[in-house]
Amino acid sequence: MSACPQKQSWKPPLPAAPMQIPTAGRGPVPYIAAWSSETTPPYRLVVRGNRIAYADENPLDRDRDGVLWVRTGNSPGRGRPEFGRVHHLRQRRAMRRLLCQVCAMPCGTDDGGPLWLLNDTEYTENPWPAPIVTAHPPICVPCARRAVRSCPHLRPGHVALRAERFALAGVHGILHTPDGRGRLAVEAASVGYGDRRLPWVRAAQLLVRLDEYTLVPVV
Ligand SMILES: [Zn+2]
Repeated sequence: MSACPQKQSWKPPLPAAPMQIPTAGRGPVPYIAAWSSETTPPYRLVVRGNRIAYADENPLDRDRDGVLWVRTGNSPGRGRPEFGRVHHLRQRRAMRRLLCQVCAMPCGTDDGGPLWLLNDTEYTENPWPAPIVTAHPPICVPCARRAVRSCPHLRPGHVALRAERFALAGVHGILHTPDGRGRLAVEAASVGYGDRRLPWVRAAQLLVRLDEYTLVPVV
């Protein structure tokens, strides 16, 4: 999978949320779920070279495409798991390396392509044969089986698909717009690679576009 730098029109995808799978108090916490110890360190944003930047920016603040990312601590296992919050760096890593979003096992070499599990809403807003843009990383078959039985986001309806052709497509994050009075207005937004607004986004989740895929049963 590689970044696709073309400008594209799309329907804004929903931000990802960790799969909610019962863990009996001590089972595995989804890989992309954040922990209470993983907080945002203090930061100050500036405008530098016609884009937003951190005042004390370091090379780790941007990805290989030059996109600025939200800063966050990285201490999985410390504190409490926060099942409603995605950890930005682990979501990005799962998406780039095609790791299962729950158990982090590699699933990019599965027959037929990696498996994606979407709820009905996400799927029907981007129905086949149109490409689907999603912030959800792939998932392995055992974790998918558990998720469809227990995750409330999937219980009303879901779609499983294997993608034969797909590409990184952009980011979901916080879009900063100069308001003309020296301040930056902020809003949540999904912005594709090639979009002129990309230098004004602090990314929180990586997006993938599934171009060719086959619907499959999960069980
Ligand atoms: Zn898994």
